[in-house]
Amino acid sequence: MTLVDDLVAIASVPAPTFAEEARIAWLEARLAELPGRRRRDAAGNLIWEWGEGRPRVLLAAHVDTVFPADTELRFERDGSDLVGPGVGDNAAAVAVAIDVVGDLLREALGGPGAVAFTVGEEGLGNLCGATAACAELRPEAFIALEGHMLDRVYVDSVGSLRARITVTAPGGHSWEDRGAPSAIHEIFRLAAGLLELGTEAAPVNVGTVAGGRSVNTIADRAELVVERRAIDQAELDAFAAALEALAPSPGCEVEVELLGRRPGGSLDRDSELYRIATEAHAGLGLAPEPGAASTDANAACALGVPALCLGVSRGSGMHSLGERIDLDTLPTGVAQLRAVLSRLLGATDTPTTAAPAGGR
Ligand SMILES: [Zn+2]
Repeated sequence: MTLVDDLVAIASVPAPTFAEEARIAWLEARLAELPGRRRRDAAGNLIWEWGEGRPRVLLAAHVDTVFPADTELRFERDGSDLVGPGVGDNAAAVAVAIDVVGDLLREALGGPGAVAFTVGEEGLGNLCGATAACAELRPEAFIALEGHMLDRVYVDSVGSLRARITVTAPGGHSWEDRGAPSAIHEIFRLAAGLLELGTEAAPVNVGTVAGGRSVNTIADRAELVVERRAIDQAELDAFAAALEALAPSPGCEVEVELLGRRPGGSLDRDSELYRIATEAHAGLGLAPEPGAASTDANAACALGVPALCLGVSRGSGMHSLGERIDLDTLPTGVAQLRAVLSRLLGATDTPTTAAPAGGR
């Protein structure tokens, strides 16, 4: 099976968040041909592990996609590009993990390690798979593998907090009941207060607003969905506290429902993981500036495990039906992962052989 055959086969199995079973089963069968031990964990992840004792590294590649189960999964070539839903995010990463780890295992690499093919990374999965795998295995280092994103080493984890705020009020006729509390006026007031907390490094965004009945009605109900993103977990904690402290005006009631929570955090610039990954990255001629992203690495960060995210190819249109990746960039992604895992596992540091992937 070539890497690209694997990639297309993986992308062809539907795997919406919370319904990843078919893709996990495909992977289980695929790994049966390879060395190492396989098992499912309580969260529904497929764990592939080798050696004894605490893993020196846990590599995570999420299997879920943003596409509903009835999405037509059709793929085509366009020059060196492969086009279709989920080719990059995250079939490419899953295929590269199998390819690189399979090779290292056949070569009897050094210390103990594990791969988690994780569930629940996208949408409202809240990183449930990565969180469970990391909590159980307690690895010394954690790498999230993503199908695009080859050009950076993502050492900062962008966390988020998402909530729905609902306001109810008596409402009434806009003239006869004038002065009565309005749910819409109240939700504007609350939203303005939350937006004031936003900064460039920790922005607040009101994504949707709904409510009211007509132009001549004082609204009895309104709701909005709000999100804050930040690398600094303290900013997210402050936002959680602000949501909890929301105080409605007399006559109004407010309800806050937490929709999603992803922890934020940063990899220590003095850590071994940081040094190894940035050296391997630069060694392939890729941009040296580190990046910030929201991936399975967030979950490890929150548990105090040194974590970052690596990409495996260049592409565009993530989360769209016209998603594409440039297959010519995959060898660079393979070489990077191989170099980083070899060093973390203490195997002989094989020189990377792929040519730099060229300009961006
Ligand atoms: Zn992804």
